[in-house]
Amino acid sequence: MDAVIASHKPAARRLRAVPARTPVPAAPQPRLLPATPESLVAPFSRVVVVAPHPDDEVLVLGGTVAQLARRGHEVLVYAVTDGEASHPGSHAWPAERLRQVRPQESADALAQLGIAATVVRLGLPDGGLAAEALALAAHLQLAPGDTVFVPWRHDGHPDHEACARAALAAARTVGACCIEYPVWALVPEHAAHARLRHRTLRRIAVADDLVQAKARAVRAFQSQIQPDGGVAPVLPPSALQAWSGRFEWAMA
Ligand SMILES: [Zn+2]
Repeated sequence: MDAVIASHKPAARRLRAVPARTPVPAAPQPRLLPATPESLVAPFSRVVVVAPHPDDEVLVLGGTVAQLARRGHEVLVYAVTDGEASHPGSHAWPAERLRQVRPQESADALAQLGIAATVVRLGLPDGGLAAEALALAAHLQLAPGDTVFVPWRHDGHPDHEACARAALAAARTVGACCIEYPVWALVPEHAAHARLRHRTLRRIAVADDLVQAKARAVRAFQSQIQPDGGVAPVLPPSALQAWSGRFEWAMA
C-alpha cells in the first residue's frame, strides 16, 4: 500500500498536511453491482495479483483471492517493490530493514488467508515506478486466459497507477483479463476518493470466515499499522476501516 507519493511522505502524514479548511469532497456515489469472486474470474483461470507494495495484495482483495484459491485457482503474486520507502527518515525503519520485514509480513498475511501463492519479487524501486512502467510490463509474464488484479489506474498513488498502466498493457498483449481494484480511492479522506463518483464498482461478497481471516492477516503488517515513535502509522485507521468488512471492491 505504501503511501509514498511524489513528496515521499507516508499517507498519514500527507493526509494530515491537508489544510483544515480544505473542503472534503462530497461522498462519491459510484454505481454498485453485486459480485462474487467466482463471477469475476473464469473457471481454471490463473489469478495474477500485481502488488506495488507488500500489503496491496491483501488489504483490499485478500478475501477475494483467498476464496478463489479455495476453489482451486492457481495464484501468482507479483511483489513489484519491497516497500522500502514507507518510512522516509525513520531511524527505526531504515530502507534495508523494510526490505527484509515487509515481504515477510506479506508472506505471513497470505498464510493467514490460506493462500498458497507463488510470489515473484521484482525489487523495483518503491516510490519510483512511474519511471519503470515499461520495464514492469516486460517483467509481467502473463498468459492468455489469466485474470490479473491490479490497482486502479486513477488510484492517486504514482506507483499504483504505474502498475495499472503496465498490467493493462501486458494483459492486452497476451489476451488476459485485467481487473482493477481501488486502494486509496476507497479511503474517504483521500483525494482520489472523489474520482469514484459515477464509476461502477463491483461489490464482492466475501465468506464470513475469510472476513475474520483477513482481519488477522492485516495484523501481520505491523510495520504499517503501528506508530513509529511519535509518528502516526503509515496506514491510518480510516484506511483500515475502508478496506475491512464483508465486501471487497473492484472496478467493473
Ligand atoms: Zn501500495
